[in-house]
Amino acid sequence: MASKPWTLGAIRAMNLQLEAACAEPGCGWSSAYDLDKMIAEFGADCELPTEAGGLACGRCGAPVDFGLVAVKKRA
Ligand SMILES: [Zn+2]
Repeated sequence: MASKPWTLGAIRAMNLQLEAACAEPGCGWSSAYDLDKMIAEFGADCELPTEAGGLACGRCGAPVDFGLVAVKKRA
């Protein structure tokens, strides 16, 4: 595995979806980020995790855990 950090552009290039889930037990909040919107806002070279954009739980404001999910390619 490459050791360089993930960037928004790399995630999109690999057809991965960036999701975030609240680190607070019992909260249960999760969200999928709009990569195109984030790249437009922060740039494709923006590394993750980032403090930019206030990536925090949309419900309680706690830090979030990131997850990368493969997006099915359209046939
Ligand atoms: Zn939360």
